[in-house]
Amino acid sequence: MGVHRCRKCAADSVINMPQHRLALCGEHFLEWVEKSTLDFIGKHRMFEPQDRVLVAVSGGKDSLSLWRILLKLGYQADGLYIDLGIDAGCDYSKRSGDYVRKFAGDLSPGIELHVLDLASVYGKAVPEMAGRRAGGRKKLCSVCGLVKRHEMNRMARELGYPVIVTGHNLDDEAAVLFGNTLRWDVEYLVRQAPVLPADDLGLVKRAKPLARFYERESAAYAIVSNIDYIEEECPFSKGATSIRYKEVLNSMESGSAGTKLQFYHSFLRARKKGLFPDNERPELQVCEKCGQATGLSGLCAFCRLTDQEKAAGPANGE
Ligand code: AMP
Ligand code: ZN
Ligand code: ZN
Repeated sequence: MGVHRCRKCAADSVINMPQHRLALCGEHFLEWVEKSTLDFIGKHRMFEPQDRVLVAVSGGKDSLSLWRILLKLGYQADGLYIDLGIDAGCDYSKRSGDYVRKFAGDLSPGIELHVLDLASVYGKAVPEMAGRRAGGRKKLCSVCGLVKRHEMNRMARELGYPVIVTGHNLDDEAAVLFGNTLRWDVEYLVRQAPVLPADDLGLVKRAKPLARFYERESAAYAIVSNIDYIEEECPFSKGATSIRYKEVLNSMESGSAGTKLQFYHSFLRARKKGLFPDNERPELQVCEKCGQATGLSGLCAFCRLTDQEKAAGPANGE
């Protein structure tokens, strides 16, 4: 690192970004990240300066950096932490929540953190919702994704936020894109975007303001701005396919700087040109219980899960 000098002030750089041919010192790196995020929010019309924004924060580097960036840019950005009840021998959710609460301890007046504890609302958390035996890790990760999406949307609706933002970075987006492309999954490709609009069935607008930053850049942002975050990934994500996709993309990136960024940008251009027509979406209707949009008739997937599990009786063990 030390051999590169900051392009703006010639001080020693803290990061070199070969895909942009850009090395920057700490101060200028933070400034560059914040300015680039502001441009990206504007370019994709994610939200307006007067909008109240709900930031989904997990306790990791991406979402806490995102929260800090939005606050520094002057947005009214409140946080939402969902306690998923994952222990896995390392108190994962509890410790993640501690990092979020620690960050929130320094918030300015008027900025809030909402905490949703699944177990206290539904009687069961993610591992119990996924079932102890059936399906293993894969089932758990898909249930967890479903629960997070449903509950983020529900909370945003109930609390009156016009937009939810998540900390997905470019490595996340490129890995998902890679998987969707391998399967040529048009239905998912057409819905993969930095911003998904609201619909008239109660889906709240969703945006990913960090989708153009590499994971190492969001980690560097957190470190340079002294944000304390949980470094481990969720214990259940070990061996996940998306991690293998990330490794493949990183090995291509090391041979040719900018591969990941180009892959994602070219996709967005192709999508904008209409390469993936949006004519195969299932008919959506409103869930009888929670009132959110679903492709199923009667209850949505989330309500089936919580209903069925409630009917099965309380979790054993504790
Ligand atoms: P992941 O699905 O774990 O890759 O996380 C992607 C994004 O979802 C994060 O950057 C957060 O914005 C959000 N997120 C993940 N876990 C939580 C959580 N427990 N509570 C609130 N938001 C979360
Ligand atoms: Zn500098
Ligand atoms: Zn429902």
